[in-house]
Amino acid sequence: MPNPSHIQGVEISRLADQFGTPLYIYDGEKIVSQVKTLQEAFSTVPLKIKYATKALSNINILKLIRKAGAGIDAVSIEEAKLGMLAGFSSEEIMYTPSGVGFEEIQEAVELGIMINLDSLPLMEQFGRAYGGSLGACIRINPHIMAGGNIKISVGHKESKFGISIEQLPQILDVVEKYQLNIVGLHIHTGSDILDAEVFLKGGNVLFEAAMKFPNLKFLDFGGGFKVAYKPHDVATDVMEVGRAVSSAFQEFCKTYGRQLELWLEPGKFLVSEAGYLLVKANVVKETPTVTFVGVDSGLNHLIRPMMYDAYHSVYNLSNPEGKKAKYNVVGYICETDTIAAHRELTEVKQGDLLVIKNAGAYGFSMASNYNSRLRPAEVLIWEGKPILIRRREEFEDLIRHQEICEF
Ligand SMILES: *Cc1c(COP(=O)(O)O)cnc(C)c1O
Repeated sequence: MPNPSHIQGVEISRLADQFGTPLYIYDGEKIVSQVKTLQEAFSTVPLKIKYATKALSNINILKLIRKAGAGIDAVSIEEAKLGMLAGFSSEEIMYTPSGVGFEEIQEAVELGIMINLDSLPLMEQFGRAYGGSLGACIRINPHIMAGGNIKISVGHKESKFGISIEQLPQILDVVEKYQLNIVGLHIHTGSDILDAEVFLKGGNVLFEAAMKFPNLKFLDFGGGFKVAYKPHDVATDVMEVGRAVSSAFQEFCKTYGRQLELWLEPGKFLVSEAGYLLVKANVVKETPTVTFVGVDSGLNHLIRPMMYDAYHSVYNLSNPEGKKAKYNVVGYICETDTIAAHRELTEVKQGDLLVIKNAGAYGFSMASNYNSRLRPAEVLIWEGKPILIRRREEFEDLIRHQEICEF
């Protein structure tokens, strides 16, 4: 993983001059090539990619993903609407909510979007309202522990997501009672999954359950492909996952008696490596034990290091050849917000530009205004040119919804 000074020929440091810092930068070519990689890895099956919008939801990124031939998975009605604004038709959107009010379900149905049913009570309510008039999907909790961190493991027994596979008899009762038209079964076990093994295990749960549902059109294996965060990190070998899962899937389809579609919902895999968070060193503070680099950003803009203990590579763009030293790169938030601890960087001086890598997924989309800070601008590099896809916030944005009352 090189530390680029340019993206598609665009000099990163010039982006700081042009758009200021902190700045989110996305390499559009990388996003498209990740979509292509998945399409190739699963080229022997009828594949549909439903990009997990929550990873990075800027409308222009969604447009790019649509251009690359993928659909989307939305986890809120707002994401579904963003998708429609980006040009996705309702058939290209799957709505996978977790414990939302029924009004949201109704709204999605009115928009023509398929619902991924996440609980038995929701199945009941859905059945009472619509019977078998609409195709729907069921999210199964396969009881598989997977993923890089407990907070991102969502398919284990104690997870709130999906309907336990042990409750399959109850699921079938509700399907029978309302004559539901179940066209898909879904699992999503977590994020940062390395092995084909986990996807195969999930597949086996899906395959077994699927035999009870005669109207299926697709099986959805969820997302969770791991990307390389650390310099020598192993990433999911998607070619191998593709081969292994596709061949198991094709075997299953023979047993099932019909060719189904295979759906995937990658978030991180499509956008993580395409993203860079460009920040400036405000201060270099030496203490008796540690040298801190304080940058003009923090957990308000990139919460992954603090929330998931995530490792993000950082490099000094301004002094790439300098001698190395160890630093703690920290944010400006009044809270411990370490971005990188005990990290070897080429010597950092006040005013240097640092680049935080792998910032495409769950970066901006999890950003907040904590400490009453403004959220950064977002720039997409496309066809060798930087395009501003979101303006930097201004003070006005902070108070836009506040009522200034008289007491
Ligand atoms: C978050 C999420 C994904 C994507 O997970 P990644 O680890 O980003 O690939 C896929 N499906 C569902 C239902 C999700 O909630």
